[in-house]
Amino acid sequence: MNQTHFPVNFENTQIAFRLKGNKALRRANWLFSMLSFPVLVRFGNAFMNWAMRWHMPITPLVKITVFDHFCCGETLTDCVPVLNKLNEVGVKSVLDYSIEGKETEGQFDQARDTLLELISFSADNPCTPIVVFKPTAFGRFDLFVKKGEGVELTQTEIVEWHRLVGRFDSVCKAASAQRLPVLIDAEESWMQDAADALVLEMMRVYNKEEALVFNTAQLYRIDRLDYLSRLLKKAENEGFHVGIKLVRGAYMEKERARAAEYGYPSPICATKEATDENFDKAVTFVLSNLKRMSLYLGTHNEKSTTLAVDTLKNSQIASNDSRVWFGQLYGMSDHISFNLGAAGYNATKYMPFGPIREVIPYLSRRATENTSVSGQTGRELSLIRKELKRRKTSRD
Ligand SMILES: Cc1cc2nc3c(=O)[nH]c(=O)nc-3n(C[C@H](O)[C@H](O)[C@H](O)COP(=O)(O)OP(=O)(O)OC[C@H]3O[C@@H](n4cnc5c(N)ncnc54)[C@H](O)[C@@H]3O)c2cc1C
Repeated sequence: MNQTHFPVNFENTQIAFRLKGNKALRRANWLFSMLSFPVLVRFGNAFMNWAMRWHMPITPLVKITVFDHFCCGETLTDCVPVLNKLNEVGVKSVLDYSIEGKETEGQFDQARDTLLELISFSADNPCTPIVVFKPTAFGRFDLFVKKGEGVELTQTEIVEWHRLVGRFDSVCKAASAQRLPVLIDAEESWMQDAADALVLEMMRVYNKEEALVFNTAQLYRIDRLDYLSRLLKKAENEGFHVGIKLVRGAYMEKERARAAEYGYPSPICATKEATDENFDKAVTFVLSNLKRMSLYLGTHNEKSTTLAVDTLKNSQIASNDSRVWFGQLYGMSDHISFNLGAAGYNATKYMPFGPIREVIPYLSRRATENTSVSGQTGRELSLIRKELKRRKTSRD
């Protein structure tokens, strides 16, 4: 355990970009400059979708622009050199098989098999101490919705639901046999009730000794602080541990649009400030209940990350305590991940991988997010430019 808390300086661009050569850094500069133009991103996304539909040969273009920056490879083998490099500088990897929008039982089984393969790969591999999946990788979105609404399922759907539960269980079981934490992503609120209930079942079974199964709470949702305290009470009463990934939430526009369309109150905080307040309260809440809870903090927000770092320090909790993890997406906020890793915190990167054509929806969301998250692109650009300038004037 590392009881010493080394200072974390997010302004240190030399550490932040230590794995990027000049060419890669200049490409990142070009990429984020392009992403700062919303019109260009809208056009780029529309073009990618059109080209995909007409089977145009766009993969080489996607590869040299967005793919190489935001994804670590097309196959697990491609990713290995990247994982090793990150590990050498104290940053661990969470391999994220980023295939989305699948709808058939065969595809869901295939996703489960990929996860099982990732679990065997990760067992005893110091580079990859955590695995992750999305609920809808293992079953139909609409089935989660129907189940969550309490609508009676047909006989066929009951069988389908059992298969879905079986996929969750086989992955959680295999991960727990290797003592690997497994993160389960959160998605749209109208499918999330059923996912929450299912993850709770998994926690009851696999988190008896320690938190290995992690649900995700999106703090842009008004009701999530309440959800966290109810979950903790259940865990205390029933004797299991809570693994929780805290994020702000990625589906804000969709959530608000649906609430407006169906005429129910939006489940999302009214302002960014309210989301920030909720998020930071959740960070404090989980960190003050580490006897029962473990935290994976998924954020690019420097203030929230600093809050967690300061709380650990003030509570005399080791920087590398196995119950507290930090995570950013590959290709974003390297100044947070690499500076945390260098200071001895449990820093990780979500590492998306998969065939280029299949990860296009993921890439499209990354491009849009970097345009719409105010300040994010500007922050990335200013740090990249600072480092380019530093390299020009220094001999390091
Ligand atoms: C490792 C990792 C894992 C993730 N996993 C998930 C996941 O499982 N599910 C998921 O949904 N997302 C996930 N995300 C994405 C995450 O939810 C955020 O969309 C993203 O990280 C940006 O939020 P932030 O805390 O990094 O930064 P910030 O830039 O501080 O916050 C931006 C976020 O604030 C919120 N926000 C912005 N404007 C407003 C407004 N006007 N009113 C209310 N709220 C507002 C939105 O959530 C927006 O995404 C993950 C992110 C990371 C880094």
